[in-house]
Amino acid sequence: MSKTAQSVWNNCLEFIKDNIQPQAYKTWFEPIVAVKLTDNALSIQVPSKFFYEWLEEHYVKILKVSLTKELGETAKLVYIIKMENTYGNKQPFTEKIPSSNRLAVKSQDVDIPLNNKSPELKNPFVIPGIRNVKIESQLNPNYSFENFLEGDSNRLARSAGLAVAAKPGGTSFNPLLVFGGVGLGKTHLAHAIGVDIKDKYPEKTVLYISAEKFTQQYIDAVKKNNRNDFIHFYQIIDVLIIDDVQFLSGKTGTQDVFFHIFNHLHQNGKQVILTSDKAPVDMQDIEQRLLSRFKWGLSAELQNPDFETRISILKNKLYRDGVEMPEDIIEYVAKNIKSNVRELEGAIISLIAQSSFNKKEITIDLARVIVEKFVKNTKREVSIDYIQKVVSDYFQMDVDTLQSKTRKRHIVQARQLAMFFAKKFTKASLASIGSQIGKRDHATVLHACKTVDNLSSTDKQFRKYVEDITKKLSI
Ligand code: ADP
Ligand code: MG
Repeated sequence: MSKTAQSVWNNCLEFIKDNIQPQAYKTWFEPIVAVKLTDNALSIQVPSKFFYEWLEEHYVKILKVSLTKELGETAKLVYIIKMENTYGNKQPFTEKIPSSNRLAVKSQDVDIPLNNKSPELKNPFVIPGIRNVKIESQLNPNYSFENFLEGDSNRLARSAGLAVAAKPGGTSFNPLLVFGGVGLGKTHLAHAIGVDIKDKYPEKTVLYISAEKFTQQYIDAVKKNNRNDFIHFYQIIDVLIIDDVQFLSGKTGTQDVFFHIFNHLHQNGKQVILTSDKAPVDMQDIEQRLLSRFKWGLSAELQNPDFETRISILKNKLYRDGVEMPEDIIEYVAKNIKSNVRELEGAIISLIAQSSFNKKEITIDLARVIVEKFVKNTKREVSIDYIQKVVSDYFQMDVDTLQSKTRKRHIVQARQLAMFFAKKFTKASLASIGSQIGKRDHATVLHACKTVDNLSSTDKQFRKYVEDITKKLSI
């Protein structure tokens, strides 16, 4: 049977999926469409230039390996960039770029607009007079990209943010959803995008608002009987930034109005930026139609910063405050406060304050006292590694066995318990738990949590396992 673009690509995907993080796979590979296979060159369609650049920078090796496996040493990869900018004034276009070997000539051909069917969707409010209503952006200029230090933990979200700021409404990242735990920089990044857009496009109306305030405004509007004014106000915005959308869970009225505003903005090529403390798959009590809208664009996670990033964040902060601090103390703080940038900054601010108010020298001992306070106050979070270790010790197996693909019942149970505790004791998403415990997907973790819940209410022995391990983890 001869190979088709689809079959070749499917095999590549299978290989790639096994070798990268599930979130990355979802973000960068699921949106790709295999287009054609000619002369041993596979053409794949990607949604934007940025997308292509990202693939080339981060995944070119694995693409090459997988493609060579399928098509041999002479395999080639051609990217077709297809922007489906159906509503903005930019024409959708396709651009063909060969993979890094850059053999083919770059060609550019204009594609037929996919959708120009709804001219009546033109916003009645985009007329000069009313357009002049001045809307305060509510942006904090201190939260800039310059101050948002880059690291592995935030590279995807930060780059996507920059791409959006360069072309608001003109990338496939619409909406851009930035998610991650507390104090990891969601609010900062959201402001940075807004600030940068205001800088580049002063005429654009940008609005930053927390989901909480949005909800409050909506409730007030309903009370005062001007729900329509509320909607119209939001419909004239060019760049809408809503922080902490998880706050909308369970609030159906607000979700409903947001849904309409969102659709209107999106259809008119306006940019929507959202932040949330969870990935869309983990959000609860948010209507399905909204969740599916969230997934239209890009969901980018902010993860815990690694040691180097923590050091550079601290140094940057000290530099901006004009404070000097010995290297070993900076390292001590960065080593001990790991999961939250806000606390990292808090500790350094306390240190500076203590030393200047009490005229004490900043010593490692003083640092120790302050870091202690921070770490103690914030109930230490157990790590997924630690949970896996405790669970495997309890069942007298090693961690590799616990993670293995086997279906042996006692091993499966141990693995499910580890997943259950990871969900219970950490803030990690289902997807991230799955990838850390034997490279499983989020559905497997969800299933594990349910199974453990069921078994602990029906099976005495099993309940004892849960209680014992809970004790071990709580010490
Ligand atoms: P979140 O909204 O995720 O809870 P914030 O955006 O409020 O977190 O960030 C907490 C603090 O950490 C802020 O002071 C922010 O400036 C700082 N911060 C977070 N990430 C970074 C980063 N990458 N570089 C510099 N500062 C950061
Ligand atoms: Mg925040």
